[in-house]
Amino acid sequence: MTFDELKQAVAAGEVDTVLVCFVDMQGRLMGKRFHAGHFINGAYEETHCCNYLLATDLMMATPDGYESTSWERGYGDYVMKPDLTTIRPMPWLEGTVMVLCDVLDHHTHEEVPHSPRSILKKQIKRIEAMGFDAKMATELEFFVFAKSFDEIRRGGFRDLEPISGYNEDYHILQTSREEHIMRPIRNHLWNAGIPIENSKGEAETGQEEVNIKYDAALNTADYHTIAKHAIKEIAWQQGHAVTFLPKWHQDKVGSSSHVHQSLWKDGKPAFFDPDDKLGMSALMKNYMAGMLKYAPDYTYFMAPYINSYKRFMKGTFAPTRIIWSVDNRTAGFRLCGDGTKAIRAECRIPGSDMNPYLAMAGMLAAGIAGIEEGLELQEPSVGDVYQGDTGMIPGNLQSARDILHGSKMLRAAFGDDVVNHYTRAAEVEIEEFERVVTDYEVSRGFELA
Ligand code: ADP
Repeated sequence: MTFDELKQAVAAGEVDTVLVCFVDMQGRLMGKRFHAGHFINGAYEETHCCNYLLATDLMMATPDGYESTSWERGYGDYVMKPDLTTIRPMPWLEGTVMVLCDVLDHHTHEEVPHSPRSILKKQIKRIEAMGFDAKMATELEFFVFAKSFDEIRRGGFRDLEPISGYNEDYHILQTSREEHIMRPIRNHLWNAGIPIENSKGEAETGQEEVNIKYDAALNTADYHTIAKHAIKEIAWQQGHAVTFLPKWHQDKVGSSSHVHQSLWKDGKPAFFDPDDKLGMSALMKNYMAGMLKYAPDYTYFMAPYINSYKRFMKGTFAPTRIIWSVDNRTAGFRLCGDGTKAIRAECRIPGSDMNPYLAMAGMLAAGIAGIEEGLELQEPSVGDVYQGDTGMIPGNLQSARDILHGSKMLRAAFGDDVVNHYTRAAEVEIEEFERVVTDYEVSRGFELA
């Protein structure tokens, strides 16, 4: 929707509310609900928010230790600058449209370096300066529950009952029983201008997946964020909870968000070479070699919480190793569309809790490093790659945090301030988890310790 179309819709009385949003560190939409009249009269230029919003944890606490903002610095303002190319209807909410904002420094009006959208834009600029367009797609997995968010929270998040009683991978019968949720999700997102390809049942009880057509990297991250938000809201409207927690139960498979990617030059797929035995161009081999070499460096951005690491379990379709293979779902990286123009690299490490801007920026930075260093790609692994213990994905958040902190590649690509900011975010998660006494410890040790 263009700004002019918005003005017409407001004049016609079709739109009365504009959600002015930005994306926080956790990949969530934060912002304000504007009266549409006020938005088109002036607020479209800019609005403001408290700068603690890019330094919170999931629960909106204000942990200390961030250089950019603190109690001592008085928690000032950021400028939220609407990107008017992102105006779109939110058809599941009456009379409502939304716009995404870039986050700017209040005084200089420069982009805030640790804002997720700005981090991705910086890496996109680098690949564009090399003459390429990055196209990406994310695949969103999540679980749907019989009860609502409020019922589940009031029940202390216990006795969680998925909406179905059996593995519904590609299942038409079971997914028909979820159409009161999934059909509005597909249709509303489509009508919001998000190119939904399909939804499908996934390989667990109550697990669904939504596929969105690949697009320019920034659009893909925007689509992912809006779709995730819409899925939560539409499920809530239908009286159900959904979760994007990557591992909500140790005996269930986890939820991922695989990222597909390819580089293009002048509208042609630059990853394709018909003369190569798999159809991979030299450029693609360098890029993939970079993604593999530096995967530990950006693992934090694909798995940002304590829980994220519980997904990496053998025999669950989640990867455990940083290796690549051809159309093999047990590896961290999978070559898809080999021998065709649709050739692409799928990174299977990210969980459904990733912030897509950060994960995609990490992958791009690694791929760029692979091209710049002229890295050679090893031969693909074959067979069940769960068997083997080389190239393991960092095993927990502490290890991913330490590797991120020491990453020369990411410090050069993102800047020291950004790496330090997110290293602190990882520490906050670890410190809080270490402080809290969990149900697990109590039930294991209460009588028997
Ligand atoms: P899968 O076997 O993983 O289900 P799909 O055929 O459903 O594979 O494609 C997965 C995703 O890959 C889709 O979102 C699709 O839009 C995306 N995709 C297809 N071609 C490309 C490409 N050249 N670059 C990036 N993503 C692509």
